[in-house]
Amino acid sequence: MRRKIALIFDMDGVLYRGNEPVDGARELINLLKEAGVPFIFLTNNSTKDPSMYREKLLSMGIDVPEDVILTSGLATRLYMERHFEPGKVFVIGGEGLHREMERLGWGIVDVDEAREGAWREVKYVVVGLDPGLTYEKLKYATLAIRNGARFIGTNPDTTYPAEEGIYPGAGSIIAALKASTDVEPLIIGKPNEPAYEVARSKLDGVDEIWMIGDRLDTDMVFAKRFGMKAVMVLTGVNTLKDVEETRIKPDLVLPSVKELLDYLKTFMEASE
Ligand SMILES: [Mg+2]
Repeated sequence: MRRKIALIFDMDGVLYRGNEPVDGARELINLLKEAGVPFIFLTNNSTKDPSMYREKLLSMGIDVPEDVILTSGLATRLYMERHFEPGKVFVIGGEGLHREMERLGWGIVDVDEAREGAWREVKYVVVGLDPGLTYEKLKYATLAIRNGARFIGTNPDTTYPAEEGIYPGAGSIIAALKASTDVEPLIIGKPNEPAYEVARSKLDGVDEIWMIGDRLDTDMVFAKRFGMKAVMVLTGVNTLKDVEETRIKPDLVLPSVKELLDYLKTFMEASE
């Protein structure tokens, strides 16, 4: 019997770099759609929500339904819905995370309300990358966590590469709150179990998952930890030299998704 495979793609550094699609990405996604191979896009970025990502992908000619896009912000919402009791949320994060926490519908305490003392009612402090981070946000998050609120991080990435070089990521903001509270957060994104649980629940009846990513410490660790085929592409953060120097060993290392397209065609012909 033919084994049913599914693919999980990281996005940045895999399907595109900045606003430039990687050669072969569109053709690969079209092939998967035509062949009926299930796939999802899983990003640790929480600053955009799936509808914003759908627009971005569409502008690069990659046309996928919103429900195949899973951000760490959405994964955080789905995980909270599944595992936690409703309670007020204090958010440090970008627009995407704010939208997801609104959709959660448990009520949000904003900084103005926190200033009036509402930080005492906060049950969950949810932290992602926040381009509008202020000392005051860190202060109320600290007070709420020290008051017993659950500390949740969207993703562990301490940095991310951008135009001027390496920028601080969500993990750096989470680290500040770990320092000020002495509390260990629950972190949702890759390479952690909550991201796997949420992604897996979208891929029913699949025998084998291939995880395609550009980062060893998140994507490839994630793949290895949960028994997925670890497919590394070299169009993003890590280089071939990095791969050779680490103990994390991908199952397959390819220059880009263009070569994955050829690999997949051969694979599909062989299993027919
Ligand atoms: Mg990436």
